[in-house]
Amino acid sequence: MRPTGRLHLGNYVGALENWVHLQDDYENYHLVADWHTLTTDYEHTRQIPGNILEMVTDWIAAGIDPEKSPIFVQSSVKAHAELYLLLNMIVAKGRLERNPTLKDQVRDLELEDAVTAGHLTYPVLQAADIMMYKGEVVPVGEDQLPHIEVTRELARRFNNLYAPDAPVFPEPEGLLTRFPRLQGLDGRRMSKSLGNTILLADSPDEISAKLRKAVTDPQKVRKNDPGRPDVCLVFGYHQKFNEAETAEIRSGCESGALGCVDCKRRCAERIVEHLTPIHERRRDLEAHPARVIEVIAEGNRRANEVAALTMSEVHAAMGFGV
Ligand code: SF4
Repeated sequence: MRPTGRLHLGNYVGALENWVHLQDDYENYHLVADWHTLTTDYEHTRQIPGNILEMVTDWIAAGIDPEKSPIFVQSSVKAHAELYLLLNMIVAKGRLERNPTLKDQVRDLELEDAVTAGHLTYPVLQAADIMMYKGEVVPVGEDQLPHIEVTRELARRFNNLYAPDAPVFPEPEGLLTRFPRLQGLDGRRMSKSLGNTILLADSPDEISAKLRKAVTDPQKVRKNDPGRPDVCLVFGYHQKFNEAETAEIRSGCESGALGCVDCKRRCAERIVEHLTPIHERRRDLEAHPARVIEVIAEGNRRANEVAALTMSEVHAAMGFGV
């Protein structure tokens, strides 16, 4: 995950919560992708260290157990840069130009001629991030599946070229998140840059105030008007945080018995309930910031150990270091 500072509910539902569950069944590696922020925002680097600390604090508060699953920073494991360089040598430029996510970003950010080499090749850096730890499974949203495909192709190509008899890299599979998307308070994708988020660290009052302003079904103007839950983002929040009452909320909304004010209040209560243990852990971490720094230092140490082993296999396969 790129270090963008405090996380929002969309980050939590789309990724973080899933990682917490997965750490019971898998050996997880949690990468703070700080170099990746430079692909589109290379001018602003000063805020990255602070953003890393805020994000990792949210990760731990949400339940990532750093003893089980190392948390580490990409730029502290320099081997990522070396593997990225080597993989860039074996990928065709045209393959990267066909990346649908890149095409979307070029259009949305109006980049046209301003796409940097780093931006074009970021799926290669992602491939290095995954392959370094011989990742077999990568938890992703559906929109990230094309990137996993690039990683699979690169792993296959490396193995075919340099290690046909004893493959170095597995071809990873994407593991789709069960509850992939949470809309922002205005109905668009939840994103900090769109200013439509509920932050994981927001207080109960902030959560209630933000939800009061959330857009709902435009056809439900008065309290007793029948509504359409399926076009209302608040109903999406109920489905996530208030599963037990969704049937009742649906019928109340559709019949007009339930007004939006009450519906949003109940939704805010459930979200606050869900986040309370996370807030408690966050407060504790904020009182002891050195703990977060120690977690990262230990994660960096463990990641560097694994990376050194992988790179020695890479060097041997390619015939370097004679
Ligand atoms: S009652 Fe609830 S689900 Fe229905 S439109 Fe209002 S906020 Fe949305």
